[in-house]
Amino acid sequence: MTVVTRFAPSPTGLLHIGGARTALYSWLHARRHNGRFVLRIEDTDRERSTQVSVDAILDGMQWLGLDYDAGPFYQTQRFDRYKAVIQQLLDEDKAYYCYCSREELDAMREQQLASKQKPRYDGRCRDTDNSHKGTRPVVRFRNPPQGHVEFNDLVRGKIVIDNRELDDLIIARSDGTPTYNFTVVIDDMDMGMTHVVRGDDHINNTPRQINIFRALGAEPPQYGHVPMILGPDGARLSKRHGAVGVMQYRQEGYLPEALLNYLVRLGWSHGDQEIFSLEEMIEKFDISDVNKAASTFNSEKLLWLNHHYMMTLPAGQVAQELDWQLQQRGVDTASGPSLQAVVEAQRERTKTLHEMAERSLFLYQDFDQYDEKAAKKNLRPVILQPMQNIAERFAALENWQAENLHQQIIDCAEQLELKMGKIAQPVRVAVAGSGVSPPIDITLELLGRDKTLRRMEQALDYIRARAE
Ligand code: GLU
Ligand code: ZN
Repeated sequence: MTVVTRFAPSPTGLLHIGGARTALYSWLHARRHNGRFVLRIEDTDRERSTQVSVDAILDGMQWLGLDYDAGPFYQTQRFDRYKAVIQQLLDEDKAYYCYCSREELDAMREQQLASKQKPRYDGRCRDTDNSHKGTRPVVRFRNPPQGHVEFNDLVRGKIVIDNRELDDLIIARSDGTPTYNFTVVIDDMDMGMTHVVRGDDHINNTPRQINIFRALGAEPPQYGHVPMILGPDGARLSKRHGAVGVMQYRQEGYLPEALLNYLVRLGWSHGDQEIFSLEEMIEKFDISDVNKAASTFNSEKLLWLNHHYMMTLPAGQVAQELDWQLQQRGVDTASGPSLQAVVEAQRERTKTLHEMAERSLFLYQDFDQYDEKAAKKNLRPVILQPMQNIAERFAALENWQAENLHQQIIDCAEQLELKMGKIAQPVRVAVAGSGVSPPIDITLELLGRDKTLRRMEQALDYIRARAE
């Protein structure tokens, strides 16, 4: 039997951390078993679904590398199919029309609450034709009145629900549109789902869905309900905690490898291993090892993992994200050094690609002004002569390479009897605009001769202006 899993988001918001983790677990389960992974967009709520959300989901999946073998399917394109199955259930008397008005249902509810009963539809249209009421009916599923639903949750273990706890669920609204619990079943059935991995906010829907499967003569999939993610304060992770869409993590300079590694460990473990390549995740992930308890989001750990991957992935791979960052800032990356070389020079000293990009802008673009403090301290009139000396040396240099540049700074310092830093730091401010950059010789090599010489001239002008 081929394993088939899916990710079935409702496009009513961004792809957030919880959704991405559910997608990852579902994807890993499929990949581990050489199965198929399906993407389904559950967009039946037309008022809340947006194209922006659909795009955010698709972009997020792509950036994370969670590829799918089928889809994206859209539920709004499957209405004919849902209608046909609703009709089939009506014909087989497994569903029925309910003509109860809103007022009637409200009254029912109040009465039940007053007599301390759990509010539920009492089934008054089940076996009585109430069409004389003239209301536009909804369609209700005829839930088995007795017995129980039992399933073995892959995360939670055995779950048993008494059918008397479940009332006859609405499967089509009065305008004929199908409801969530119904469309999910039809899709999971038609798409051949063997395993459903989803958030545990759906656990109460599962017995209802299983009953619909059975009424259709189909075998329900196996379910694994993943517990929720909490913010540091113990409340469900939400926007309040600064929880944002997956693509926001890209903006903030995280690598997809880091986010995936972070997500896989958020509620799952394998011994005390922390670092997992995608291959290792696929090999080791087992849905039955997912924690039953909720996990707490920890941004420090994500940052730590990010730096780990910045340091250990091939520079060329990290460079792709740096490229994206710089393009976001309107930088023409062809106008400067190789991105791979920049990654090699910068990765030790930065924690995110965002930081790396910000600190590398000067390699591609001229800056408007110096960092005020750095210029005040380093581009002083007393440095004019040493700066002229080193600028001349740079101009005369034949091979623009780090070692040679380094040697010129040493020679200049010796000649003028200054410490090396007394020259290197003003040069750094002159070329980078601030007091922070990789080692000066590497910085200059990356920046190249033309930009260096031009910026040295500008710095000399600046110092002269200050001297007057
Ligand atoms: N569309 C549902 C949601 O986004 C998920 C349904 C499911 O996974 O069964 O919450
Ligand atoms: Zn009714």
